Amino acid sequence: MLIDSHNRKHTYLRISLTERCNLRCTYCMPEEGIQLRDRAEFMTQEETLELAKKFVALGVTKIRLTGGEPLIKKNFRELLQQLSKLPVEISITTNGILLDLYFDDLEKAGVKSLNISLDSLIEEKVNRISRRNYFERIQTNIHEALRRNFEVKLNCVLMKGENDDELIDFIELTREKKISIRFIEFMPFDGNQWNWSKTVSYKTILDRVTNNYGESFIEKAIEGANSTSRNFRIKNFTGDFGIISSVTNPFCDTCNRIRLTADGKLKNCLFSGDETDLLKALRNGDDVTSLIQKSIAGKHKERAGLKEFDDAGFTFENRSMIRIGG
Ligand code: SF4
Repeated sequence: MLIDSHNRKHTYLRISLTERCNLRCTYCMPEEGIQLRDRAEFMTQEETLELAKKFVALGVTKIRLTGGEPLIKKNFRELLQQLSKLPVEISITTNGILLDLYFDDLEKAGVKSLNISLDSLIEEKVNRISRRNYFERIQTNIHEALRRNFEVKLNCVLMKGENDDELIDFIELTREKKISIRFIEFMPFDGNQWNWSKTVSYKTILDRVTNNYGESFIEKAIEGANSTSRNFRIKNFTGDFGIISSVTNPFCDTCNRIRLTADGKLKNCLFSGDETDLLKALRNGDDVTSLIQKSIAGKHKERAGLKEFDDAGFTFENRSMIRIGG
């Protein structure tokens, strides 16, 4: 078992399959893009599978596939099929553009839950935030995912003055649709010009929802033991909404997450700049398992030891979101 010094059991592995994406979202991809690197620096399909097996042998029971955009990975279909043979629950975080090409494969692999990134319900705004124009196709794929009874979560990164005016419009989607909205606090990563003035906090979100619907109409909704979001439902609405508040209200006490980057580095925390190179160890025939155990044993209690996120001179060594995969 991968248990850290704070007695947290790590059973959930997020694997970033690629640093490439068919979108350029402002909060994820630096304006200037990222330097594309030699293919040899990245895990092959076989290496991804081999490392996944090592984590499963250490107690991992859930694998989430992320990116960049996982569905643009050339051999995504084969990799998904092989991973689906492992005794784990597989889920995926995608921007939804290419879902229509993979619905059957996802169903065959037993994938039940899809997290789809959608930061606005307004085409012009989606195009501005993502710096691309795939609004129609994403919308069509969200409807098809619901029609096929996937558990659909819409991930919406809230940014003040950009899309926070659509908070209630997103929640109104849950009136009749069996859908979950996940409002994500804007987080600081390399190259995304984060600052407090752009952050819409957990408290602000809840206050606005309460002002709109009234306190007595807001119920707590189901949350898993290691949930990253605090979940709510408007009375008599079909769907629910949650708030993922790493910046103003962290949820590290129950963290069970580990990240494997596309270039084979282990991050024991989303905010940790300190990484363990598993790919190099694997290629050298070294003992990868003890490296994984060592990294988890040394995990900080909260946010990689980061106390406060303040504007003035706030810097910390970390990757851009596109190179972590959320
Ligand atoms: S900030 Fe780090 S420790 Fe906290 S929940 Fe996220 S990954 Fe876990």
